[in-house]
Amino acid sequence: METQKTLFADAMTRLDDALEHVDISADAIERLKFPKSSLSVSLPVRMDDGSLQVFQGFRVRYDDTRGPTKGGVRFHPGVNLDEVQSLAFWMTFKCAALNIPFGGGKGGITVDPKALSKLELERLSRAYIDAIADFIGPDVDIPAPDVYTTPTIMGWMMDQYSIIRRQQCPAVVTGKPIALGGSLGRDTATATGAFYTIEALAPKFGLDRGAATVAIQGVGNAGSVLARLLFEAGYRVVAVSDSKGGVYDPKGLDIPAVQNFRERNRRIEAVYCEGTVCNTVGGQTIGNDELLTLDVDILIPAALENQIVAENADRVRAKYIFEVANGPVSAAADRRLNARGIPVVPDILVNAGGVTVSYFEWLQNRSGLYWSLEDVDRRLKQNAIAETEKIWQVARERNIPLRTSAYVHALRRLGEALEAKGTRHYFAS
Ligand code: NAD
Repeated sequence: METQKTLFADAMTRLDDALEHVDISADAIERLKFPKSSLSVSLPVRMDDGSLQVFQGFRVRYDDTRGPTKGGVRFHPGVNLDEVQSLAFWMTFKCAALNIPFGGGKGGITVDPKALSKLELERLSRAYIDAIADFIGPDVDIPAPDVYTTPTIMGWMMDQYSIIRRQQCPAVVTGKPIALGGSLGRDTATATGAFYTIEALAPKFGLDRGAATVAIQGVGNAGSVLARLLFEAGYRVVAVSDSKGGVYDPKGLDIPAVQNFRERNRRIEAVYCEGTVCNTVGGQTIGNDELLTLDVDILIPAALENQIVAENADRVRAKYIFEVANGPVSAAADRRLNARGIPVVPDILVNAGGVTVSYFEWLQNRSGLYWSLEDVDRRLKQNAIAETEKIWQVARERNIPLRTSAYVHALRRLGEALEAKGTRHYFAS
């Protein structure tokens, strides 16, 4: 059994691995080991039946050395402070790795959102902003969507913050509906960024679009768009799944058909998709555990953290793993995969398209000038490919795994910023 570390302790081991390869002051390292501030709040919500239910919410601002903190808000029954803190830590490194001028933050509410009506969900989202309003702001901390939060929810949150401040504050939240100041291309940004990273690395890995097989765990916001992009580009997407199970066809799935089914079965009054992808198209049903061990070229975990852990890492048969979810491969699993020569392209690089276009949305909100989809896509592509190349180069030069190299790349930027603010070394020189 893998020793049960907290998610945060597991996340910190990635920092330790990278520290060996970067010249950064001891002061800066010390700063990066602790979150700047964490807030835990209770959220009393009046339910449709008149009863009162109290939910628990969190917001963590991990590090703001390079700019206001930025990160999504997760609605999930498993949300806890350790998870939110880990996600905020990853956001810090993600923004630095991609050269986005933000620090790292994250938020969450411990709730099963599928059990709430739309009105209850709106009251909960507004209650969350009431509780954290003094902790966030366009120059302080900027929430965004994450697991089970949507543009609609971001719109409610921005509106509530604007009501509290008595002025329009579109830049306080990103991932909003277009009508409320959202950016074109934000809804597909995480997947599009992941697609550019895959495309940039595929030739280096000797993968050919026309032949490469792909399995995707979790076809939500990020995974479903990525499945479509890969399918359209000619990759053979052989398996996809959601929380209820998946479907597998070694000849390749008809991804638009799978997605049509999901869309048709969405409950109109609900914010979330319902129904499993299993009954839709040809191919066999497959469990999530089985999907992770399929013999494919590319495995894409795009659901939740800790999906590939010490217990199943040795059964993984994929040649390459691209992490679209945050933290889907534990540190212990990483070591086993490394030993077996299976490269893992890390979350902080692969899924950074979301925060990149969130940054673009924030810029547009602040300037009042809105960009075309072509502009958004061009800048996203340019940044994703440029930073992927730099991280690849660091990995080659130092002969280190891509994850360590992404952290080294981020740490150099973070270290420089921390140093510029003043460290012992800075004052001594
Ligand atoms: P989402 O809620 O839209 O989708 C999550 C999907 O995972 C759903 O299809 C759900 O059914 C499925 N799922 C849940 N548990 C599962 C399990 N045990 N096995 C298989 N599937 C399961 O969420 P999302 O926004 O697509 O986020 C997915 C991951 O990507 C998360 O780790 C999130 O932090 C990360 N991420 C998302 C964004 C973004 O912009 N959406 C940006 C960066 C990172």
